[in-house]
Amino acid sequence: MKIIEKKPNQIVFSAKIEDSLANSIRRYLNNIPIIAVDELEIIKNDSPLYDETIAHRVGLIPLKMEKAEKAPIKLKLSANKEGFVNSGELKGKIKSVYENIPITFLNKNQELEIVATTKIGKGNEHSKFSPGLMFYRNIVELKIDSNCPKEVIDACPQNILKSENGKIIVVDNIKCDICEACIEVCSKKKKDSIKIIPTDELVITLESFGQLDVNEIFKRSIDELRKDLKDISKKISK
Ligand code: SF4
Repeated sequence: MKIIEKKPNQIVFSAKIEDSLANSIRRYLNNIPIIAVDELEIIKNDSPLYDETIAHRVGLIPLKMEKAEKAPIKLKLSANKEGFVNSGELKGKIKSVYENIPITFLNKNQELEIVATTKIGKGNEHSKFSPGLMFYRNIVELKIDSNCPKEVIDACPQNILKSENGKIIVVDNIKCDICEACIEVCSKKKKDSIKIIPTDELVITLESFGQLDVNEIFKRSIDELRKDLKDISKKISK
């Protein structure tokens, strides 16, 4: 396993694991308990958006998880200024992860007053409870023949092909996203002079919506998968 890139809300790493296992971990992201607004009382809504749209938008705002265990938690919002009403205006025991998610817009003399109630749920029940997303692809090897046309170098959007001593070489095969632009160029000139061969290693990208850290999401997803496998194993052995 090797970390390729790490940002606050995203991690990209390579690992030699079966894609069926990677897919299970991906699916179990939606089994991690996450907090989100589940009920909304609309006391006043003069904004141009329907009550249902406001409720939908508030439900999708990612909330910080630290004090989430004690859900349900009430959050209040009262706005009467002209301009955007943002997620940071929700006040209560927990805060939204991002302050500037627009909920609606108010014109002069308009008001929005709501009371939101949170719930702990899972992404397989509703996507508002989803902690993030994960996707992956195989790392590939590129087999390039000596008669491969030089045009493939400029055709590659990842800039990973270059010419060295009259040969075309691959600089960084991990960056190959299998777009097949090089194959397309070759098919017009020298068909099959470049071949893309998948290896058994994957590049996995995990992104967080902000409620949990990416490492925590990966760990908890595996924990949830393990729990279910233990359960199945118990049931089978009865
Ligand atoms: S498949 Fe796409 S990214 Fe990979 S080498 Fe060919 S052109 Fe470049």
